[in-house]
Amino acid sequence: MCYNNNVYLCYHEIGLFMKEIFLAKEGEIALKGLNKKTFENVLMKNIRYTLSDFSGVNVSRAQSVIYIKLADGTDYDAVYERLKKVFGIKAICRARLCEKNFDVIKVAAVDYIRDIAADFRTFKVEAKRSDKKFPLDSPAISRELGGCILEQIPHLSVDVHRPDLTVNIEIREEHCYIHTGNVPAAGGLPVGTSGYALGLLSGGIDSPVALYMIAKRGVKVAAIHFEAPPYTSERAKLKVIDLAKKIAAWSGSVRFYSVPFTAIQERLRDGLTAAGEDGYFTIIMRRLMLSIAEKIAKKEGFDALITGESIGQVASQTMGALRCTNICELPVFRPLIGMDKTDIIDIAEKIDTFETSSLPYEDCCTVFTPKHPRTHPSKEIAEKLQDNINFSDLTEIAVANTEILHIRPD
Ligand code: ATP
Ligand code: MG
Repeated sequence: MCYNNNVYLCYHEIGLFMKEIFLAKEGEIALKGLNKKTFENVLMKNIRYTLSDFSGVNVSRAQSVIYIKLADGTDYDAVYERLKKVFGIKAICRARLCEKNFDVIKVAAVDYIRDIAADFRTFKVEAKRSDKKFPLDSPAISRELGGCILEQIPHLSVDVHRPDLTVNIEIREEHCYIHTGNVPAAGGLPVGTSGYALGLLSGGIDSPVALYMIAKRGVKVAAIHFEAPPYTSERAKLKVIDLAKKIAAWSGSVRFYSVPFTAIQERLRDGLTAAGEDGYFTIIMRRLMLSIAEKIAKKEGFDALITGESIGQVASQTMGALRCTNICELPVFRPLIGMDKTDIIDIAEKIDTFETSSLPYEDCCTVFTPKHPRTHPSKEIAEKLQDNINFSDLTEIAVANTEILHIRPD
């Protein structure tokens, strides 16, 4: 039983209205004009997809808020973890759904915060009334409910400036929602609203972060990985597949193209040794990777490529080296180009790829690495060496033998 304003309400009478719900607040989508609905539809589809293994999920929207109702007994924490990774959602709150009857709201609000309040001393009520037909206005809701909370939870006192706890009451079209605040979510735009890009994914720290950043802008991403067995092991490939799974947790399922690169690397090594130009190995290898990736991208309908390059990070990413590898017709997105390694690592930790990226397995880039890579290479010389050695037959074979996997998040 709960006492309020001389009305006794039994919990079973209000039980119907004690369900919890997630409210997902839209980010940049809210600023869109005529095509806002299209973005919202993709966002709702993505939310349904990420929650597809939970039964009885109902997703609806109104006024730039997506409502996610769950069946009784659903693991709310597990759902929350998934929602935090959906791009297009700026903030999430877990709220108590409640009938728009002020007596019921008082009972439900006190009940909702009773346990939470044990850890706090001060509070305030913040009311938002988008349904103007509701008989009390926002200040009156805050005042009346504040009084009820003070009466029912006597260790709390009001502090309207710096409260330990804010009790939010949102009176919306269909229901009232009670919650203790929004938590920042993934931000960005819904994946699938900004085209399709193919990311060159190594086993390193940078490229998974690059794919994540482009997916965050609403781009559906796929991954292409170059492997060089037996120089690179099966474990090294599994590590990259694990990274693709971690990206898929944010971007939705990821197509994974695995390109056999050994024969190309061997011919390059031998050709450069014969020409006395070992220092061009990494530059020409990167040019070959980009040209194969572009061939596959065009064949498969991608709009752009992505790499994890950053100016000056290594010899193959000096300004001169980047000029040498600037060979594609398709746009090549390099979202990390101006970032420090420490900032890239912060993101890798946040998106949970850092630990996997740090596993010490070999990558095809580290095989045959020249002792003295060129830091000021010439694009004309790189082109000439590549033409003379001639890789056209081997690149055709590599494209034809590329294996395609479909990676879903864990
Ligand atoms: P890190 O610099 O942390 O070792 P990285 O992924 O940036 O990792 P680099 O050697 O700097 O590795 O390579 C530059 C870019 O080239 C990568 O970001 C990636 O996009 C691409 N790349 C390198 N090796 C591969 C590979 N084996 N398969 C696919 N893409 C690769
Ligand atoms: Mg790098």
